[in-house]
Amino acid sequence: MSSASPGIDPAGTPTIAGSGEPATGKRVLLAKPRGYCAGVDRAVIAVEKALDLYGAPVYVRKEIVHNRHVVETLRERGAIFVEETSEVPEGALVVFSAHGVSPMVHAEAEERNLRTIDATCPLVTKVHKEVNRFAKDDYDILLIGHEGHEEVEGTAGEAPDKVQLVDKAEDVGKVDVRDPSKVIWLSQTTLSVDETMERVDQLRERFPGLADPPSDDICYATTNRQVAVKAMAPECDLVLVVGSTNSSNSKRLVEVALKAGARDAHLIDFATEVDETWLEGVVTVGVTSGASVPDNLVMDLLTWLAARGWGQVDEVTTANEKIAFALPKELRKAVKSEAAGPSES
Ligand code: SF4
Repeated sequence: MSSASPGIDPAGTPTIAGSGEPATGKRVLLAKPRGYCAGVDRAVIAVEKALDLYGAPVYVRKEIVHNRHVVETLRERGAIFVEETSEVPEGALVVFSAHGVSPMVHAEAEERNLRTIDATCPLVTKVHKEVNRFAKDDYDILLIGHEGHEEVEGTAGEAPDKVQLVDKAEDVGKVDVRDPSKVIWLSQTTLSVDETMERVDQLRERFPGLADPPSDDICYATTNRQVAVKAMAPECDLVLVVGSTNSSNSKRLVEVALKAGARDAHLIDFATEVDETWLEGVVTVGVTSGASVPDNLVMDLLTWLAARGWGQVDEVTTANEKIAFALPKELRKAVKSEAAGPSES
């Protein structure tokens, strides 16, 4: 555990940051890793680059990532968020979000002569490819995920006649497969690891021949953030997860924290949303953030907590992430030719 912002005065006496008073044992445990993942970083940079290269407006189908602050910031720069491709004017530029889209959406964009930049996270694309591969081999595919989530709609859309969605435990009994020896489970990338395995066990009870995915579909970022919050939760009276209510991986962090022993846990978009009554009787506050959350929002929360006596911050590190993804191919070309400068003719 490393101290990120220790409340120790120059004489070495623990203090409440900024107050000079003796410490009360109040402290913050700050999860690492937290916040932005490689897929979100890439998607946000894709919209920013598109705005730099082509100017506003740049249309974005759905929220580029599920975070209110990020969406508002891009909107101020000239991004226009739409729900459907049909809302984008003919011939305009549209960015597809990190959650991915179905082949039908690509076809619709082509029909409307839209210029597209596909910011689908490569780890979501990996699941799309798995769906295609197993659909081609005539498997029934049981996709574990949340009904109505954009990622699930895009993934299932790769082979709608072969994919059945399994969300809640009661869905397990409703699944109908043609050949129990040719059935595989795949999953949304941002689920709770433990709950997903529960669902797999339930499915396997019905279909003992159920095949596993060739590799984990729940992505490294989701898994790492859950491991970090699990490590600190038993010591926390309260866990605050910075993230938006439509962010699947952020909501899962609240659930994982509670299951792992935190006395209380809440999801907040901004520090100002913390209800001060949550802090009554609290000594240790755990802080983390979802994969679509920029770290300045976490820093704002730490400042807010420090002003109320929680100035000592100890980082709980369970992994160091070094993953980065290249920009979408449509932008790589444009960025390269911009760097090369105007061509002589
Ligand atoms: S949470 Fe995982 S799948 Fe989703 S964008 Fe981030 S890295 Fe990609």
